[in-house]
Amino acid sequence: MLEKVLIANRGEIALRILRACKELGIKTVAVHSTADRELMHLGLADESVCIGPAPSAQSYLHIPAIIAAAEVTGATAIHPGYGFLAENADFAEQVEKSGFAFIGPKADTIRLMGDKVSAKDAMKRAGVPTVPGSDGPLPEDEAQALRIAREVGYPVIIKAAGGGGGRGMRVVHEEKDLISSAKLTRNEAGAAFGNPMVYLEKFLTNPRHVEVQVLSDGQGNAVHLGDRDCSLQRRHQKVLEEAPAPGIDETARREVFERCVRACIEIGYRGAGTFEFLYENGRFYFIEMNTRVQVEHPVSEMITGIDIVKEMLSIAAGNKLSFTQEQVMFRGHALECRINAEDPRTFIPSPGVVKHFHAPGGNGVRVDSHLYSGYAVPPNYDSLIGKLITYGNSRDEAMARMRNALDEVVVDGIKTNIPLHRDLTRDPGFCKGGVNIHYLEHLLAEMKAKP
Ligand code: ADP
Repeated sequence: MLEKVLIANRGEIALRILRACKELGIKTVAVHSTADRELMHLGLADESVCIGPAPSAQSYLHIPAIIAAAEVTGATAIHPGYGFLAENADFAEQVEKSGFAFIGPKADTIRLMGDKVSAKDAMKRAGVPTVPGSDGPLPEDEAQALRIAREVGYPVIIKAAGGGGGRGMRVVHEEKDLISSAKLTRNEAGAAFGNPMVYLEKFLTNPRHVEVQVLSDGQGNAVHLGDRDCSLQRRHQKVLEEAPAPGIDETARREVFERCVRACIEIGYRGAGTFEFLYENGRFYFIEMNTRVQVEHPVSEMITGIDIVKEMLSIAAGNKLSFTQEQVMFRGHALECRINAEDPRTFIPSPGVVKHFHAPGGNGVRVDSHLYSGYAVPPNYDSLIGKLITYGNSRDEAMARMRNALDEVVVDGIKTNIPLHRDLTRDPGFCKGGVNIHYLEHLLAEMKAKP
């Protein structure tokens, strides 16, 4: 096993990784910015190092500071968590060149998947079904671009090859807007991601977001841990997730699982990963692969009993997968509510001191959060302050437990989106299951219209 892991992240995921390391008897190094001295996991780690001031660019994104921290503490491996440097191929490369294990895929794999155009191409070759569109980048030549869009058929969506986090996308409904939209998206992508390349896809009108969790050891063994439904989104950002995705066609599902596993083996994938799909009319369409642990990984853990973060650590230590596909047992249903420090109606971030925090409990309730009474949520980072996860033998049972958990949880002093989750878990449409990616935005618009 790995000896000492540096956790290059903060908040709930840093705590999640720390817990997995402690379980495995691995020593831990926590790193933090000057704004994060009060983070819960610092007190639980074997060592902690301040790596810079509050702005992420000077701390959590500052590669030399993180590598220096690994060197001075004698860490042997680095876990990037999600966000920050998790999908930065240069970081993965520098980590390995400096003699540490990177807990994730090889730099080349991250590079391949980080460019959505090359990722789509690789998946297509591996037999994974993709959204129809421009094969490769959208040409700058206007006539060619117009021809491609006409062939694909409107509406289309123009997406940045280097995009992420729901940014760098523009829907085009009519031909007259194509060229100007492509230009705008190119400019935005250049500024935001340092890569102006865009591509074009058919804009699916009512799809669901269904993704497949995989684990692969880079030594010829790969498994899937089933699917997750992440259709409840606001501004392309996930709000509430569940596993398994309700009401999916079994044949299509089995086939997509098999294709994902095969793709992992073909590209020599190492670590945990997620294949993201849009699902419409019984068919899956690949949109992108995330080469890291995801925020919503706990719902897959709950229905399989497999600890994804522990497996990541084991794979990074050079071990083969500790189980086969046949040994993965799917049981029950799990839901996850992302708790954000934000106004539940306007979504404006609400940092500040948590005067009182009371965690919910009971059968099938899991809380992944770094909150404690007196903790000050800094204004500098993502507003995610925790995740409530519930498990049940059935979806209804998991839902009932989630309603209870949401009624029990107390976060005083700051605003949170807990009231929104209370509404969502009582919404008849969502409770029925299988809503599409526009459902939440429509619901929010309806709520706004009401007095
Ligand atoms: P990001 O990396 O920024 O998260 P994705 O490619 O994963 O970008 O897309 C994010 C979300 O945008 C999807 O979950 C979906 O809601 C929407 N989306 C992306 N591509 C399409 C498409 N071709 N048709 C309809 N919606 C899309």
